[in-house]
Amino acid sequence: MSYCPSCKYQFEKGLKICPNCETELIEHLPEEHEVDEKWMLLKKYHSEVEANMIKEVMENNDISCLIRFDVLHDSLLVDSSTALLYVSESTIEKAKKIISEMISVQKQDSKK
Ligand SMILES: [Zn+2]
Repeated sequence: MSYCPSCKYQFEKGLKICPNCETELIEHLPEEHEVDEKWMLLKKYHSEVEANMIKEVMENNDISCLIRFDVLHDSLLVDSSTALLYVSESTIEKAKKIISEMISVQKQDSKK
């Protein structure tokens, strides 16, 4: 397989130049691309609503999210579940930046 380092597409062996962006194709995928994209824990939320809100913001920024629930086994408390928000490894820096920007906007709002 040939691989375009720029647009991350794979092409049939034999191609030397990416038909999309004319970048020179490389023979093998970089090591980190050989594995399926990893999901990284972005943040923990105490409610599904909150996690879904962030998920929506991320998706508006072209970051796909995954929400998993971490439920304590022996708890009778209603709020014992934690919503874990995951983003893929390649987008986590962007996602963190968006979150920190959101937090700073919230702080500015509360000053008013
Ligand atoms: Zn390309």
